[in-house]
Amino acid sequence: MTLHSQPEIELHPAFAWDCEECGKEVFCRALVDDELTKAVNGVMGMAETLALEEEPTGGIALKVPTRVECPFCGSWFPCFPQEG
Ligand SMILES: [Zn+2]
Repeated sequence: MTLHSQPEIELHPAFAWDCEECGKEVFCRALVDDELTKAVNGVMGMAETLALEEEPTGGIALKVPTRVECPFCGSWFPCFPQEG
């Protein structure tokens, strides 16, 4: 099977975290904040265009959950975005 016959896959942003209870690495799909994405791209796009005189590449803003559930052991944890 060639690469061209395969359907193109859309990549979704996701958060990854390590369960403190069972030690498994968990991936959960992140929700895109459409309103914030538009607002951020509007502001940053203008700033980038002025500074670099290039087309801004833009980005996406994600809704960060306040807690996560491990699908392996069912434990709940409060969470925060990665620092640094
Ligand atoms: Zn777990």
